[in-house]
Amino acid sequence: MAERADERVVGAARMLIVDDERPFGDFVKRIACRLGYETIVTTEAQAFKNAYVQARPSLVVLDLLMPDQDGIDLLRWLASQKCTGRILISSGVGDRVIEAARRVGLERGLDIAGTIVKPVRGSELRKILAGLLPRHPQSLGKTDLERALDQRELFVVYQPKVHLATGRLQGVEALVRWRHPTLGDLAPDRFLSLAEASGLIDALFHFVLNEALRQQYAWAISGIDVQMAINLSPLNMYDEGLADEIAARCREFGVATRRVTIEVTESAAMSDSLQALDILTRLRLKGFEVAIDDFGTGFSSLTRLRRLPVTELKVDRSFVRECLDAKDALGIVKTVLELARNLELVPVAEGLETPEQYRKLVELGCDFGQGYVISYPLLAESLSAWEAQWRMPDVYGEAASP
Ligand code: C2E
Ligand code: CA
Ligand code: CA
Repeated sequence: MAERADERVVGAARMLIVDDERPFGDFVKRIACRLGYETIVTTEAQAFKNAYVQARPSLVVLDLLMPDQDGIDLLRWLASQKCTGRILISSGVGDRVIEAARRVGLERGLDIAGTIVKPVRGSELRKILAGLLPRHPQSLGKTDLERALDQRELFVVYQPKVHLATGRLQGVEALVRWRHPTLGDLAPDRFLSLAEASGLIDALFHFVLNEALRQQYAWAISGIDVQMAINLSPLNMYDEGLADEIAARCREFGVATRRVTIEVTESAAMSDSLQALDILTRLRLKGFEVAIDDFGTGFSSLTRLRRLPVTELKVDRSFVRECLDAKDALGIVKTVLELARNLELVPVAEGLETPEQYRKLVELGCDFGQGYVISYPLLAESLSAWEAQWRMPDVYGEAASP
């Protein structure tokens, strides 16, 4: 049977349970949900059939013994529906009966994935269900991402950025994540190019923008005043009204535009397009800060850099990571910091992973930094707890320690 593309991906781990004992169905559901299955529980045959037709689950958990229709009948019905999903037969009637049912199913061309002999322990069930999750990385498509935007599977984490010499929290960078129902949490490298290729990058940007501004306002109310950095894809820059839109959202959320930094990658900012210059200029005119991200990885003309209305330079993490081990990386870090100073741009080091790197960047006079040694990207509610316990590395040597 031909699969519809969206069914193949979206329905990949949708589960339908039919069992006349509701508590058992709920028990299976609880475990399945934790594994990332989308789960529907039914307790009688007709409801099961209706749900099946609508949901086209990839996994059916079928009770053999039910008052209104037995499992063998349901297997026959599933075969008539050309069911391609996998089927787990569950029952408390004994191994022999289950085995017979299994054979009936197989003979009808159904994919009988296994059996559950009741009563079953949670740990055992978890093992069975986990083994039936799609093993290969699924290809994600436009429908998935649309659903993710629609059903709020996307969320935003925030990575603190600190003033290196004092350790003071200066701001956060909003980073998007996707809580995929079966694949777990996905980092942006799994879906940004999909968003760009499928025309959803503007929707994604607006999602992040709204989340971030709402959060920034909430923090401000609770006394945490942070600069908010938001990433822009080069493709977002084709939206003529972008600067106006972002400003309008800021007004709506009660956030001052100067408290928002828009980050564009070096290659996007430096591309010789008028469009980029136009957008960045408008953003600056409205009071936004503008950062050049991943600096050092593109090919900048210094002339263009000088003309660009930007305020911050973020040294790419690949150089920061190597700066203690590789002379050329250190050279690049020094050069970028020097360039930032000369052009009066705020220098930021990203990807600081060790106290040694942190110390080195302080020594080199870099003002701000981000990285795992400071904090991983955090859920919004964890920021204040992080701030309360955060201790910067001892950058001034033993003399400064208590
Ligand atoms: P980026 O803007 O350079 O963001 C920093 C990335 O480095 C983040 O990865 C962050 O988790 C990671 N990182 C932070 N500290 C360290 C560290 O100490 N070591 C290492 N190895 N990595 C560190 P993430 O969140 O996976 O994002 C990857 C990229 O995806 C971002 O790079 C950014 O270009 C893009 N991105 C993230 N969120 C968005 C978004 O909402 N919109 C757009 N257009 N792009 C986004
Ligand atoms: Ca960034
Ligand atoms: Ca970066």
